[in-house]
Amino acid sequence: MNELTINYLCKQYDVKQEVVQFVNDMEARVENRFKPLEEIREFNQYKVIGAMQDNRLGSTDFHWTTGYGYGDIGREKVESIFANIFKAESALVRPAIASGTHALNLVLSGILRPGDQLLYITGAPYDTLQKVIGKKGSAPGSLMDYGVLYDEVPLLNNSIDIEKVLSSINNSTKIVAIQRSTGYSDRRALTIDEIQTVIHRIKKEYPNIIVMVDNCYGEFLDTREPIEAGADIIAGSLIKNPGGGLALSGGYAAGREDLIDIVANRLTAPGLGKDTGLTFGTTRTTLQGLFMAPHVVSEAVKGALLVAMTYKSLGFNIVPELDDKRSDIIQGIEFLTEERVSEFCKGIQAASTVDSYVVPEAWDMPGYADRIIMAAGGFIEGSSIELSADGPMREPYYAYYQGGLTYDHCKLGVIKSLDNLYRKNLVDLVK
Ligand SMILES: *Cc1c(COP(=O)(O)O)cnc(C)c1O
Repeated sequence: MNELTINYLCKQYDVKQEVVQFVNDMEARVENRFKPLEEIREFNQYKVIGAMQDNRLGSTDFHWTTGYGYGDIGREKVESIFANIFKAESALVRPAIASGTHALNLVLSGILRPGDQLLYITGAPYDTLQKVIGKKGSAPGSLMDYGVLYDEVPLLNNSIDIEKVLSSINNSTKIVAIQRSTGYSDRRALTIDEIQTVIHRIKKEYPNIIVMVDNCYGEFLDTREPIEAGADIIAGSLIKNPGGGLALSGGYAAGREDLIDIVANRLTAPGLGKDTGLTFGTTRTTLQGLFMAPHVVSEAVKGALLVAMTYKSLGFNIVPELDDKRSDIIQGIEFLTEERVSEFCKGIQAASTVDSYVVPEAWDMPGYADRIIMAAGGFIEGSSIELSADGPMREPYYAYYQGGLTYDHCKLGVIKSLDNLYRKNLVDLVK
């Protein structure tokens, strides 16, 4: 960073020069880790363009219909392009899927019947899924409310405890679920290779078990996706990685055709399936976002590495570690106090493009058990592929940093958050 930029940053963003210098030093330490990310990005970029070409994406595909949405060409193209990228037989990609949670709920409630068991093998699932399952404070309409059985196998040393998994599967087990990403926990994301090893073991003994992977935050971190590792069905959110920051809303499921058909029946109605559902003209932004996604994801991961190096050097525990192979875009930092989480998030918010003047506060978000603080000043509300940070207000007070559509924006977020902590004497700038 040259003098011009340093001086401009200090003045425009009211940050201390020693903070900017510190982050620049951290960048110098971490830059050598960027190259492998660029190689993954390059492969995925060509994969996405290839899928668009193979599906003969044409300018008329951006037109849309009204009413039932029969023969909505754009919708059909989007779904076959997603299926192609994920190496799936079929995909369901809709703006009307409200979120990742909604997509996962469609998959689970579409496939599971009363008396069937869902077995989570990555420990307790992401907070919102707990309500979907009905574990905590049973929401009416949860899976357990419908008579679905549930069990989970905790991770063992941050890995799937495969022996325990194999002995936990019983006659009623129908879906084995794997959460790829960290979620609001203190473990690293599971890599595609790890997922593959586990799925192979399970399928060898239980070929009929359906393996679902919660792919939220994991898309484009690797050159392969979970279906290629043997998963039957995956689901995720379009306002995370695969929307590239441009998708206005939506979620997806991809996988075996018979399963996607059931899930589609759940989304619309039996008999209607994938054939209805208007896209309201979102096809262009969904696909342009998908086109940008490999690049945006790699920028976000570079940002995560910078955050990781910065706070690791300041003495905080981080997840994943600098040397861990990354399989999601999240960087967790163990801040140990509510105040640090809060100041970190306020700094990220202050670096935002939209709502930079707003101060985030922890609140009781729907679907979550603890108060959550969220710094999110994106062009798309709640989009966490954009620069954002959040965390549940519970011990040991982790903040989860993710996103940044450009690396420069990520860096500004690191500078602003550190400046906030530094001014309040919550960190010392010693390396
Ligand atoms: C984000 C996320 C979800 C879904 O969250 P939404 O906010 O509903 O999109 C599910 N699982 C994991 C691991 C996630 O990170």
